[in-house]
Amino acid sequence: MSERQEIRRTGLGVSPGIAFGRAYLIGRDTLKAPRHHIEQDDIDTEVARLYKAIAASDKQLAKIKEKLASENESDYHIITAHQMMLHDEHLVGAAVEYIRDEKINSEWALRRAVDDIRGVFDSIEDQYLRERRSDVEFVFERVLRNLLGRDTGPLQPPPDAIVVAYDLSPADTATLHKAAVSGLLTDAGGKTSHTAIIARAHEIPAVVALENITELVETDDLLLLDGASGIVIVNPSATTVASYREEQRRQVAAGVHLASMRDLPARTLDTHDVALLANIDGPDELDDAVEYGAMGVGLFRTEYLFMTGTELPDEERHYKTAVAVLEKLKGKPATIRTFDLGSDKLAKFLKDAELDEANPALGLRSIRLCLSEIGRELFRQQLRGLLRASAHGPLKIMFPMISGVAELRVVKTVVEDVKAELDAEGIAYDKDVKLGIMIEMPSAALTADLLAQEADFFSIGTNDLIQYTMAVDRVNEYVSYLYEPLHPSLIRLIGGVVSAAREHNIPCTVCGEMAGEPMIAPVLIGLGVRELSMSAVSIPEVKATVRQMHSDEAEKLVARVKNLPTASDVRAVVTDYVFGLMAPKP
Ligand code: PEP
Ligand code: MG
Repeated sequence: MSERQEIRRTGLGVSPGIAFGRAYLIGRDTLKAPRHHIEQDDIDTEVARLYKAIAASDKQLAKIKEKLASENESDYHIITAHQMMLHDEHLVGAAVEYIRDEKINSEWALRRAVDDIRGVFDSIEDQYLRERRSDVEFVFERVLRNLLGRDTGPLQPPPDAIVVAYDLSPADTATLHKAAVSGLLTDAGGKTSHTAIIARAHEIPAVVALENITELVETDDLLLLDGASGIVIVNPSATTVASYREEQRRQVAAGVHLASMRDLPARTLDTHDVALLANIDGPDELDDAVEYGAMGVGLFRTEYLFMTGTELPDEERHYKTAVAVLEKLKGKPATIRTFDLGSDKLAKFLKDAELDEANPALGLRSIRLCLSEIGRELFRQQLRGLLRASAHGPLKIMFPMISGVAELRVVKTVVEDVKAELDAEGIAYDKDVKLGIMIEMPSAALTADLLAQEADFFSIGTNDLIQYTMAVDRVNEYVSYLYEPLHPSLIRLIGGVVSAAREHNIPCTVCGEMAGEPMIAPVLIGLGVRELSMSAVSIPEVKATVRQMHSDEAEKLVARVKNLPTASDVRAVVTDYVFGLMAPKP
């Protein structure tokens, strides 16, 4: 073991797991854009140089994508987004204008165009957007390398290395997972940075936002990282390594145990069944979801069909995609949500619409967009596709962000119109297709008894319900301490929705992130929820909790926490309860 002093740092753990390995340091890039003026006669050559570098960058990114195993991996989409950025008028058009108007070289012009865009990001002060700022930088960096004829090849760390960098571009991260690195550490980054998203998708333990880890570590230093707690230990002592190895063995054993549960029912000890369903973004995720034990799809977020590729999805694409989901599920049910775009989920057609909204999260998003001039036709196409697919298996259609009964009625009128069209054309669909709504706004939660009389089912979208109840942007780090699923207000709202659904005899699922948290699921079950839809990887762990609990005890737990004044009071009681479930029984 190393003689050097053990150093501990805590960052943001963004992808769980324990990793040991030697550091592979990627120095902070100091590539500078050279600056000089050009002659009038050289303008066209300079513009051509820029376009050539952009084309080369595009080709390199396409090549990286080719090497990725599946079109459905998150890195695939992120790299596609970078390719789109390469051709974005705000970047390229602005740079060309600088070359022409100010007679400056491509590198300088591009730097200025990027700085203008950065300025816009800086003034927004939103974590998610701030992290997107780094995407512009990554794209700039690549074009600059091509302009200067510098190496753009993939990073090649030795296998099992822990990569330490200031920040990593999605393209770098995507090539790194193929190189079988054992962990990632970065100075910069946040929970929604792409390093984090890709690391989680490929199950590489990662800690970000370490500020100066690149200064503390040298290549070949021995490193230990715990991606769950965010702890990083440089030059760990033999005792430290031994204790983390023990923890690692425990985690691996728990993983094996969870995998062995795939075919067991999610049944409480007092024999109440809970349906554990998967949230998916596309049919390609279904093989894994079934492998994790999903009993169906509780939420298919179809907006990804609009955010990838160059063409907007038409009726046929919606139809084929939905049929593909049903086929893969072999008779298990699928709830498909109509597109929920706007706010942080932007598609090109929306960008082109150039909506000037001060508060997009409170603006023309989701179902409002579908009912507006901009989205109406796309919505009808999707409804036609989904209705046609309903003839092929148990498909339910769900509408996001419904504010109340009036809006639900408008949506149902559109569905009726589309059904009449299909009838007139003699096209088959399930005449009894269920139409449900997401409950994700306080206005809907508080009128759940009225909505339950006109909707076939509910699905509580707690991600947005928390955002709109607590008035806290779900991706804003400054107020993230308020983003608290166990806040008493949420427990009351969810409880009210579940009761209304029960009274009116309609099913009620919870499909926000909190459904997949084993430390929270007992509260939902105690409130009467019997369907939980979550990211498929969470299913085994939630199932393990369900199988250890009694639903009547969970009801008593809810009765105890219902009147507690703060979220931390609630959390303390719930944590005690869940730990009690895990304790070995005498
Ligand atoms: C939610 O809001 O809880 C939800 C499931 O929808 P999304 O995360 O796609 O907004
Ligand atoms: Mg939502």
